[in-house]
Formats: sequence, structure tokens, C-alpha cells
Amino acid sequence: PSLEYELLRRRIIDGTKEMWYFFSSELKKLQKVAQSNPQVLTKISHILETGIEHKRSLLHAAEQLSEVDGFADWRIKESQDLSDLLQKRLHDLQNPKDCSSARKLVCNLNKGCGYGCQIHHAVYCFIVAYGTKRTMILKSKGWRYHKAGFEEIFLPISETCTSSDGATHSHWPGKPETQVVDLPIVDSLSPRPPWLPLAVPRDLAPRLSRLHGDPVVWWVSQFMRYLLRPQSSTYKLLEDTSQKLGFQRPVVGVHIRRTDKVGTEAAFHPLEEYMTHVEEYFKQLEMSKPVEKRRVYLASDDPSVIKDAKEKYPNYHFFGDADIAKTAAVATRYSDNSLSGIIIDIHFLSISDYLVCTFSSQVCRIAYEIMQNLHPDAADRYRSLDDIYYYGGQGSHNREAIMEHKATRQEEIDLQIGDIIGVAGNHWDGYSKGKNTRTGRVGLYPSFKVIERPELADFPTYEKEKR
Ligand code: GDP
Repeated sequence: PSLEYELLRRRIIDGTKEMWYFFSSELKKLQKVAQSNPQVLTKISHILETGIEHKRSLLHAAEQLSEVDGFADWRIKESQDLSDLLQKRLHDLQNPKDCSSARKLVCNLNKGCGYGCQIHHAVYCFIVAYGTKRTMILKSKGWRYHKAGFEEIFLPISETCTSSDGATHSHWPGKPETQVVDLPIVDSLSPRPPWLPLAVPRDLAPRLSRLHGDPVVWWVSQFMRYLLRPQSSTYKLLEDTSQKLGFQRPVVGVHIRRTDKVGTEAAFHPLEEYMTHVEEYFKQLEMSKPVEKRRVYLASDDPSVIKDAKEKYPNYHFFGDADIAKTAAVATRYSDNSLSGIIIDIHFLSISDYLVCTFSSQVCRIAYEIMQNLHPDAADRYRSLDDIYYYGGQGSHNREAIMEHKATRQEEIDLQIGDIIGVAGNHWDGYSKGKNTRTGRVGLYPSFKVIERPELADFPTYEKEKR
């Protein structure tokens, strides 16, 4: 397929969603104004109920396009080829012939934060290693989640080179000839190299834009894929758990982040809000096939959520690690340092067909990233209740206006075609918030009037590996 065709196909899907965010949210505002007018209220309810069916039907049709347009095999093969190419480059980078002379980038997994945050830290480091053509050395002794280190849980990231010894050492950035460079956490990185997310490599970008709805997510997912290759014991843990859970498709993965996050880094979202989107996913799925059971893999740092869900939604089949952890009396699963609980939850979220969660949580973003390894393009298989996708420490996220916009309220900003907008977030009501880099103004604009503008960076092209 041409790039134009793939972009248009995705634009129809995004546009349909945005249109419904807009109409449903405006109608709900009208409902509030019309409280005292039962006739109008009835009418609005009717429009909402019928309107959502229109939306579902349109989305269903647009999504089916990718199955019937004759390019489905191409997508599978291209995604496999691209992944093979990158995995080979990573393998070669990580396995230098002579470790004693190899240039290295050293990172410490023990960033003072949760599992998702630490894995993202390691991936950021891996990307910089790829950008500098250095072998990544990952230090993880005394890891808060597993004292003996990362390598007992996941395969070592190198078979030939794991020592940080070298003739010359320096802190970032060092010199090109410095053998061993220490990389700090991204928060204190200076100078910042051009390779940080959301940048994608220029040499792969044309293929990625055609293949994937969000190239940088694909890019990040490939580093996750290499980094998180399970050790046999971890593999067995996941297999056993799958058996115990009776994991089956179709299933929606729901992650509900509560405890310490709420009120500090994220707002509280009630279970009902997650379930609205779960229901919508199944209703749309039911347009193409009957769903005998509406399954939900439910993950949360608050184990009471699953009990609540079962009581409130008897028509759904909820299951999760919290469930078996309880029945098997594995009481420590949810203690602060439990590794198996979080690995299991991320795994089953990532192999679910669709994700409903808050992208403010790194747990959910990791599940979404890993999910990309299982489909040619899973960019669309989620609904975040808060943030759009981002990567901690990322550079600006730019979009380009393709339509003019005249602000109609105080909160809105003007757009001219070609304006670059640094996007802050989607309000899921038809509008997004961002900064127009031409005018310097920050405010809301209709989400459909801009398109993604992928950030390209010159990474090494690893030419000799190209065949
Ligand atoms: P964030 O704080 O949500 O952005 O993600 P982090 O991964 O950095 O830190 C949250 C930590 O809380 C995780 O690493 C887990 O230890 C724990 N946690 C959060 N959500 C879940 C969950 O759904 N299941 C389990 N088992 N642990 C969770």
C-alpha cells in the first residue's frame, strides 16, 4: 500500500473517534443545561444512544478495511522484517567480539522509582547506546525488585560483554574514544542527545510510518522486546499463571492505578469510567462476531478493585493476578517489592486485545508498548482515561495544523495551515491542548485539525548489517 493510503485509513479511524468525542461531550453539556426540560432531555438521550451506534458502525467499517484491502499479509511480513532487522542490530551491538576493547554505555537499573519507571529508564539507556553505537552494560545488583539482579528474571542483555571495565571512563557525554561512559537518569541528562524519544531513526522512518500508527511506540517496543526476554523460570511463571487464570480471548485488559499515584501524579477515576470503554469495545466487537463471554483481565495496585468489579458487573468475567494471589494466599504479591505480581499483570495486560487504563501510569504504558510486539500495528488498541502516549523525559511532541482554526472561546487558540503545535494532551472531547509555536499561545484546538509530525533523528544506520 502507499503511505498516503495507510495514513488516510488511520485518519478516518481517528477522525471518527474524535467526532464522537466532540458530539457526545457537547450533548452531555446540553443535558446539564436542559435539566428542567424532560422533553429535551429525552431527545438528547435518544441522539446519544443512536449516535453511538452510528459511530460504532463507521469505526467497524473503517477498521475492517485493513482486513479486506489485500494488504494484510504485507503488514504481517513488513512488521516481521522490520523487527528482525532491528533485533539483529541490537544483538550485534550487545555482543561485541572483543569486550575488552568495546565501547560501553553503563546504566544502573536502580533508579529510585517503580518497576515501570525503571524499565523505561533501561530502555532510554538502550536507545542512547544504540545512538552512540555503544554496548549497554546494565547494572542491577541489589535491584529493589530482585536483589540478585535483573539477569535472574530476564536473559542477560549480552552473552559476551557484561563487565563495565575499560581503559578510559567518563560521565556522559564523554568523548567518542572514551571507552566507558556512565549515563545518568534522563532527568539530569546534559547535554541531551538527539536520539531521545519521541525521535525515531531517519533510516527506518519511511517504513515505520507506513507500517505503524505511532512509529515511536513501535520503536520503543523493539527495545522492550530485546530487554525483556524472559528467563526460563519467568517463562514458566507466566505459563503456569495463564493456566490458573484460564486466560482466553477475546479479553480487554484494564489497569486501575490507585494508592500512592492518586492525588499526587494522577486523578482518581471510578471503575464505571473504565467500564464504559470496556463495554464499548465489546459492543463494537459484537458487530463482527458473537462474544460468548465478556472477559476482563483486571490489574490494579489496589486488590479491592476486583471484588468491587465482580459485585457491580455480574455480566462480565473478571479475572486477574489479584484473584489467584488471594486464593493461593500469596500474600506478598502486593507488597511494595513484589516482582512476580507486576510482571504477571503487565504480561496479561499486554496480550489482551485492547487496553483501558491511564497512560499517566508507566505500568499501563509498558503494557501498551509490549503489546506492539504481538500485532503489526496495535497503535489503536487502547483507551487512556487521561494522558496521550508519552515517554518520560521526551522532547516536545509536535503536530502540524492541516486546517485553519479561528478560536471561538477564550480557551481556544488560532491555527494556520502549517503551524507546528507542541501538544500537551487530548481532552477526549474533540479538543486537544497545545502550544502554537508560531504565536506562542497555549490553549485548546479541535484535535482533527492537526496531524502527527514524527520527530526524525540521525541514528547510526548499522549499514554492514543491512542485507
Ligand atoms: P506508575 O507509578 O504507575 O507510573 O508506575 P511504576 O511502575 O513506576 O510504579 C508503580 C508500581 O506500583 C509498580 O511498579 C508496581 O510495583 C506497583 N503497581 C502499580 N500497578 C500495579 C498493578 O496493576 N499490579 C501490580 N502487581 N503492581 C502494581
